[in-house]
Amino acid sequence: MTDMTVAIIGAGVAGLYAAHLLRAAAIPFIVIEARDRLGGRVVTVDEAGQPSHDGFDLGPSWFWPHTQPAIASLVAELGLSAFGQNSDGDVIIERMSRETFQRYRGAGMDQQSMRLVGGTGALVRALATHVPAAQIWLERRVTAMALHADGVALTIRRADSSVEELKVKQVIAALPPRLLDATVTFAPTQEPATARRWRDTPTWMAPHAKFIAVYERAFWCDAGLSGTAQSMVGPMAEIHDASTAAGAGALFGFIGIGAEHRAAMGEASMTRACVEQLVRVFGAEAAAPKATLFKDWAADELTATPADRIMGGHPSAGNGPWVTGPWQDRLALAGSETSPSEPGYLAGAVVAAQRAFKEIVAKLAAAHAPQ
Ligand SMILES: Cc1cc2nc3c(=O)[nH]c(=O)nc-3n(C[C@H](O)[C@H](O)[C@H](O)COP(=O)(O)OP(=O)(O)OC[C@H]3O[C@@H](n4cnc5c(N)ncnc54)[C@H](O)[C@@H]3O)c2cc1C
Repeated sequence: MTDMTVAIIGAGVAGLYAAHLLRAAAIPFIVIEARDRLGGRVVTVDEAGQPSHDGFDLGPSWFWPHTQPAIASLVAELGLSAFGQNSDGDVIIERMSRETFQRYRGAGMDQQSMRLVGGTGALVRALATHVPAAQIWLERRVTAMALHADGVALTIRRADSSVEELKVKQVIAALPPRLLDATVTFAPTQEPATARRWRDTPTWMAPHAKFIAVYERAFWCDAGLSGTAQSMVGPMAEIHDASTAAGAGALFGFIGIGAEHRAAMGEASMTRACVEQLVRVFGAEAAAPKATLFKDWAADELTATPADRIMGGHPSAGNGPWVTGPWQDRLALAGSETSPSEPGYLAGAVVAAQRAFKEIVAKLAAAHAPQ
């Protein structure tokens, strides 16, 4: 059992940004992450599914700088480059399987969706350069927290199933509140209304799955198509251009069928059906992708709980404290879903981390103030 000032649970954007802020304030911390990688819902990979500096986003792709100043500032601070989501060209709408699709002139976007050069993984990589590797423990899952007079004892399960305990003064839980409620045990337990709020807060995009097809080139542009399509036929409900900044051609789609049905279908038949749809919509050249990628977030137990298998709504930016009762002095929540603005989005992760950081600084200052 070691003594450490702050433990951050989760090395997604929120956890890494909180770590960056604590480091800048010279407050000792450790980041504890259950996966063997950083980023959480941010995953940018190459055609072989390996981490890539010019890859395809299996999680988030976009941010909206005009309405999300916190992420716009962080992108600028970290020196990252952005480019607009391709919307040049026509849009296709598939209404019914019996009918051929309809083609509409692309109207452009009121609010341009922006992408990061290198994918959203670039944000995670840049944040990680501000956090010493020795202060990030990978493949360690926090399973329980117990409140003590002078701090919190964390129970941590390693990948080999061995268990260790870590004593800290403060905890920042940088994971979705619903997942926290379902997978971490508290002693004493959280107040019922607070636990209910965590449980009732849907984890944004957790019920969804993303399919990506990589091509030699973005052939749909030759035909005056933007790569954007909407479909009531499926399996993809929404398709967009996912070509990288360096020019690798790709299309991605959100699967429009529920998690249980996806699981029953299996990845191979899902892939077949998605490629068939791309051929239907974009023509014969779509039949031979160089590679396909598929990520079902509802099946990812470090993002989704069984409650997320049902298509959930958007988390709401409610007011009021996320932590109440005896835990108030020792625990802060930083997962994107707890943000007062843009909850569920990358921008929400940044704002929630800033808020949790401020809470921790205030609590540590109060603890050191003369009585
Ligand atoms: C398919 C998809 C598309 C999306 N598209 C967009 C988009 O275009 N734009 C946008 O702004 N947002 C989008 N989002 C949402 C965005 O990904 C999230 O808002 C953001 O990544 C959340 O970051 P976070 O750090 O709060 O949580 P997470 O990224 O979920 O990080 C939580 C971390 O905690 C770890 N963890 C969980 N439990 C434990 C435990 N007990 N012990 C230790 N570690 C634990 C997890 O492994 C994970 O690394 C999308 C999400 C998905 C899945």
